[in-house]
This record gives sequence, C-alpha cells and structure tokens, in this order.
Amino acid sequence: MSETPRFLDGNAAAGELEALFGVDMTQTSGPCLGCGQQVIIAQAHAFLGGPGTVLRCPGCDHLLLRMVHSPDRTWLETSGLGYLELPTTGTPR
Ligand SMILES: [Zn+2]
Repeated sequence: MSETPRFLDGNAAAGELEALFGVDMTQTSGPCLGCGQQVIIAQAHAFLGGPGTVLRCPGCDHLLLRMVHSPDRTWLETSGLGYLELPTTGTPR
C-alpha cells in the first residue's frame, strides 16, 4: 500500500510568506543545508496542517523553513537554509 504525499508545493505558502516579507517569495531561493541543493521556495514541499507552516527540501526532506503564528506574534525559523536570495528587480538603489 502506498501513501499519498501529504504536502503541497511551496506556492501553497505564498500568501503567508508575502504577508510576512511584503513581496512575492515564491521565486526566492536558497541552499538546503541538508544536501546543498539550491531550492526555489515554489518547489519546496509545504506542510500546512500542523501548528505552523513547514517547508522541506524536495531533494532530501530537510527542514528549510518553519513559521508559527499566535494572535500577536510570528516565529520564523530558516536554519535549514544557508541564505535566502530575493530578486530585486524594480527596487530602487
Ligand atoms: Zn536538501
């Protein structure tokens, strides 16, 4: 018996990420610290059913990003990413 994957792609977290960063984050990328793969957020595996939102690496399942909200706070963990690379097109310099 095979299990159906219980995740969506990273686009499922787009609205939540945009509310936090103020820009569309789906084309943001960063290196997975589990396997080194450069992961685009839209391609990450998104788990939305828990107490927070979790994004995992599509290559090795390493935890990339976790967001948890309470009525007055948001916690953001990105310790599974080496960095986040955001496009700056249109941003004044
Ligand atoms: Zn990985």
